[in-house]
Amino acid sequence: MSVTVDVKNLSISFGDGPAAVKVLPDVSFSVNPGECFGLVGESGSGKSTVLRCISMLTDFWKGEILIDGRSVRDIPLIQRCRMLQMVFQDPYGSLHPRQSVRTVLHEPLVIHKLGDREERMRKAITDVGLPIAFLDRFPHQLSGGQRQRVAIARALILEPSLLLLDEPTSALDVSVQAEILNLLQRLQKERGFTYIMVTHDLAVVDHMCDRFAVMLKGEVTEILPRDAIAENRATHPYARELVGAS
Ligand code: ADP
Ligand code: MG
Repeated sequence: MSVTVDVKNLSISFGDGPAAVKVLPDVSFSVNPGECFGLVGESGSGKSTVLRCISMLTDFWKGEILIDGRSVRDIPLIQRCRMLQMVFQDPYGSLHPRQSVRTVLHEPLVIHKLGDREERMRKAITDVGLPIAFLDRFPHQLSGGQRQRVAIARALILEPSLLLLDEPTSALDVSVQAEILNLLQRLQKERGFTYIMVTHDLAVVDHMCDRFAVMLKGEVTEILPRDAIAENRATHPYARELVGAS
């Protein structure tokens, strides 16, 4: 269960006329099936915008994005949700305070008309290392790491093949970060997901990613394999500086 992703000459601006701001002038990269591909770069360099374009949360006006050779524009929304899911930085922000874990996990099953709901919810919650009793908890009854596990369970319950992870551990303290990264790694090994992971942390890339793209002001300066970090084999000056500082 994994897919290829091809981002070709993706370009996007916000605003109209002279006030328009070009956020991504021309971004291209390809992700192999089952690969964990990192997107790194300073805040505001366009990493989240790239993920939002892949999931069509933000529309783009130039270029194309192909998943297994098929344009994301041609994949109906309902099918796109089954195929790809996003996990965001702030697990508290992405869970509704008045919704129990059960409600959070139940909703996508109803929307997508999937049966065996209780069984699927139990499997999703245990797959992310939480007890079944947590189905009846609310977000305020969970720690930050547990909330992120619930967000991951919600992403997994539709059995997607592509996970877009937007700084999934940045809001967590260091020991919890490692737990969540290990969980993501285990899930990828078990299910062969394709991951695209945004992070500003080269240590996360070193732990998780097969290759990574360095972004600066909306452009991909360089695409490097993970082992380029230890020897700092980056050639672009910004990429060298970023990798050298890690
Ligand atoms: P990153 O995730 O690398 O920190 P983002 O992709 O969030 O960067 O943002 C890149 C740039 O695009 C930023 O300058 C941000 O202000 C701008 N931007 C993002 N979304 C919008 C939007 N909906 N309207 C206007 N500007 C936006
Ligand atoms: Mg971001």
